[in-house]
Amino acid sequence: MADIKILIVEDEQRLADILKKQLEEAGFLAETANDGYIGKQMSEKNNYNLIILDINLPLINGYDLCREIRKTNKDIPIIMLTAFGTPENKISGFEYGADDYVVKPFDFRELLARINVFLRRSDLNIPESEKIILADLEMDLKSKTVTRAGRKIDLTAKESMLLETFLRNRHKLLTREFIIEKVWGIDFDPSTNIIDVYVNYLRKKIDRDFEPKLIHTKFGFGFYCSDKEI
Ligand code: CA
Repeated sequence: MADIKILIVEDEQRLADILKKQLEEAGFLAETANDGYIGKQMSEKNNYNLIILDINLPLINGYDLCREIRKTNKDIPIIMLTAFGTPENKISGFEYGADDYVVKPFDFRELLARINVFLRRSDLNIPESEKIILADLEMDLKSKTVTRAGRKIDLTAKESMLLETFLRNRHKLLTREFIIEKVWGIDFDPSTNIIDVYVNYLRKKIDRDFEPKLIHTKFGFGFYCSDKEI
């Protein structure tokens, strides 16, 4: 399935970085532009599936940029981020060609819900993310390559399946039975300690030399993979 690529045009670097990270965690590809001029150039050069557009931007403001983008691209969903929630502001956004707006400060879940509405509408299913990112760990699900803090990590096939199971179910508690079924198949004896052995192998490779630790043991229950405690 094709990647879904989102452009974020936002001059507040911190917000742009957070949005990029959250969108990537949600399985999208995301790129940022820090002013309206760069945003215009990037939107012309690349085929984005959706654009998130701030209004107050250096060089070209969000309204003008929206109008420019609409001259050549009528279909791309554009969601405006506005600090101004007045009806006039929202109406101006629509007049310039925006499809929706989110008032700052906003909850990422609200933005994500709106993004998903558009992507469903334009007949793109939300992909199985092709790359899973957790903290500074990245796994490319196609090539199965894994890096942590930019360093390539070599995994055996089983370690790779175990990590993929963890990452696809990140931030969730997983029973030993669930993991064994995913990685070794249902006929495997769940009383075996093979899972502990493999979790240790994996920890040595992806956690031992790095922070934060990503694979956690929940005593009496199983394991979970997260950059924070559950
Ligand atoms: Ca701004």
